[in-house]
Amino acid sequence: MVPIVACGLLPPGSPSVLDYVATPGNGELRVSVTVAGGPRPIAWVGFGASPLAAGLQSRRIDQVTARTVAGGALGVRAVGDDAYRVDVTTDDAWVLEYRAVIGAPPADFYHRASSSSDDHMMLVGVDVWARFFDAPAAISTPPTDRPLGNVAEAGIRFDVSGLPDDWIVVSAAHEVALNQFELSDHPARSVFALGPYRYHDIDRGLGLRAAIHPGWNVGRRHLVGYARQLARAQARHFGPPPGDPALMIFTPFPSSVTPRQGVRTAGMVWDRSLLLFAGADRSAPLNDRRVLEMLAIFLGHEIFHLYVPWGLAVTQPLSWLSEGWAEHVGRTSAQTARLLNASGADRSLREAYARYLEMGGARAGSLQNASEAGEDLRPLLYVRGELVFRILSLEWAASGKPGSFGSAFWLRLMTEYDGDTPLEPEAVSRILSAMVSPSTVRRLVDGAAVITLPELKLGRR
Ligand SMILES: [Zn+2]
Repeated sequence: MVPIVACGLLPPGSPSVLDYVATPGNGELRVSVTVAGGPRPIAWVGFGASPLAAGLQSRRIDQVTARTVAGGALGVRAVGDDAYRVDVTTDDAWVLEYRAVIGAPPADFYHRASSSSDDHMMLVGVDVWARFFDAPAAISTPPTDRPLGNVAEAGIRFDVSGLPDDWIVVSAAHEVALNQFELSDHPARSVFALGPYRYHDIDRGLGLRAAIHPGWNVGRRHLVGYARQLARAQARHFGPPPGDPALMIFTPFPSSVTPRQGVRTAGMVWDRSLLLFAGADRSAPLNDRRVLEMLAIFLGHEIFHLYVPWGLAVTQPLSWLSEGWAEHVGRTSAQTARLLNASGADRSLREAYARYLEMGGARAGSLQNASEAGEDLRPLLYVRGELVFRILSLEWAASGKPGSFGSAFWLRLMTEYDGDTPLEPEAVSRILSAMVSPSTVRRLVDGAAVITLPELKLGRR
């Protein structure tokens, strides 16, 4: 047991202290959670779902039961979408038990939901850990919008006895013993990856570690070194990443989403975890110079999300601001870290520009519209966002203003951003218009002017 609280010490109605024991195996997770304090005499229990993968969940919750710590049954019945009502007819702590069947990942968005494959299980906390509420309002909202509940602290212990010997559980959460974690809030904020991962320090001072799966084969020998150089290059620019220590979790693509051609990477940030995936077809060169350049830009992009995840979203989780900026910093920090030379940077930017034209560059109007337009414009959002970011940076540099555009913009955003409410697009445009020519902002950010090659000032081929 996780030694966090003696059962029954918290008065009923106080925030819950949640003590989870999870037993993974065969693509499923059996969970038993002891609830101290918290809602009663009725507890409304709901499960969440990734807001970015609605409709593509690969997990199912079933066999939900409740009991007292001594084993007496408590009434529990399903009351809606992944939601239950429990009659907590005890003043003491009680136990909820359930099974989460975790399927193979869907081809899209698999990395935004829990998934299971032969060589690892990924628990993107949002969808497998029960949430507890004292009123039914929370469970009447769809799983994608459900709050986390009122949680004082939580612990999770994984019983891995049914798993292969070399499997461990890795997480950015505070590990108090092997496979056992203590959290200061609901585990839905955390990620847990199970598999034959091994930890590596990237930079202790920056609070950055890696957990690498042995199946990751793209530029494998370079992962820790590249991540270290990129993180240090970005820290020189923006300061150390804010917040708690972070973990980069490197996982090979499950076979169901391995690319049929070439090399592919994907990543996302979930709180302090960077979930990184890569895969290649059988004939792809895994250590080719171009592949290593791509890897460096990819890692630089993802590391930058430790600064700007979507906390600075304009109005949407995915915005041109966070993604275009991350693309820009990915490429420029790879150059600073000497993982990409000037001609490589120019070449890869020309390729990005060609993709922008191919995708119908000015489609979707303003960058904000593109941010809100949904999945078909998403690739365009990244590339167009980066090109605009580059043009704004060039304009800033040409005006002779001190420092880099990125760090000056960062400081100005930080003075307006309250750390909680996303900035409105108008606020971002106003900040930008005070830094560079307002007409550039009107044309390229608020408008949909087609970007031209001369504006990007690429070097000679
Ligand atoms: Zn990104």
